Amino acid sequence: MKTFEFRHATSVDDAVAGAAAGGTYFAGGTNLLDLMKGGVAQPTALVDLRRLGLTDITPTDEGGVFVGAGASNSAVANHRLIRSQYPVVSHAILSGATTQLRNMATAGGNLLQRTRCPYFMQTTFTSCNKRIPGSGCAARGGFHREHAVFGASEECVATHPSDMAVALAILDAVVHVQGPDGRRVVPIDGFFALPGDTPDVDNTLRPAELILGIELPPSRFADHSWYLKVRDRHSYAFALVSVAAGLAMEDGVIASAALALGGVAPKPWRLHAAEAALVGRPADEAAFHAAAALAMDGADPLPQNEFKVDLGRHAVVRALTRAAAVE
Ligand code: SF4
Repeated sequence: MKTFEFRHATSVDDAVAGAAAGGTYFAGGTNLLDLMKGGVAQPTALVDLRRLGLTDITPTDEGGVFVGAGASNSAVANHRLIRSQYPVVSHAILSGATTQLRNMATAGGNLLQRTRCPYFMQTTFTSCNKRIPGSGCAARGGFHREHAVFGASEECVATHPSDMAVALAILDAVVHVQGPDGRRVVPIDGFFALPGDTPDVDNTLRPAELILGIELPPSRFADHSWYLKVRDRHSYAFALVSVAAGLAMEDGVIASAALALGGVAPKPWRLHAAEAALVGRPADEAAFHAAAALAMDGADPLPQNEFKVDLGRHAVVRALTRAAAVE
């Protein structure tokens, strides 16, 4: 049995000090405990964050909402401000995991969950650059049907598993963090790291930085948004392809649009060219197909996941259609 210390942090400063001394943050534990039980993660000390009170979901002075990092996924998805102003976040969260897991998992932990690449999750596989840097990537020559078609490298082709993060990407959310050098904010688009030649690094957090919360700017897409998740079975499965779509419309014409894909890259994958193709057009099938035609530009699939390119285009059309039709 691997032993480890466990202690309750009494303040944010205390938590950060604990992590700076080598501890690993612990909140809902829905991913970390799985990794520990499988021997993938072997922390020597856990710093429990659950007494820090980072659970509030509150309006901001700017007209947005601040979600405490310790708020459960269920609390976020079901909060009246999120449901009314950011329904795409609710849709995304409720499409993931199970009720029991959503009750335990936290908003901060959702961003920090690790890939579910089977070669990463199972220590019996000895080639995984993300788990053992320099050991190779078993997925490239093995099972990679669920893997990335954007943003991957020779070292790693894993996808990020979060649904919530894909919704946050179209909202231009900002992550508030605190570390040994103080507080800072990280735009969601800069929060996740592409694998490059350091696939063991999932994000741009600095050592011992703690997520305090997620700030949502004033919502542009309260009236017209959708989260579409395509997966192998209807529940408790990760996305093969997902789409977060948001439209701001004036008299039936698209004034602004935001699109992001999940299940296809190591981070939520914004589709800026497709978004630009929508602006100024009526929200109709022709516009949605024009956006979809651009959505998968630059995709670099592997033999088993070429289907994601076509699936991605269809999913974009479907998500935009649903977003436009929301009353
Ligand atoms: Fe490991 Fe990444 Fe390759 Fe999966 S895709 S085996 S996580 S290096």
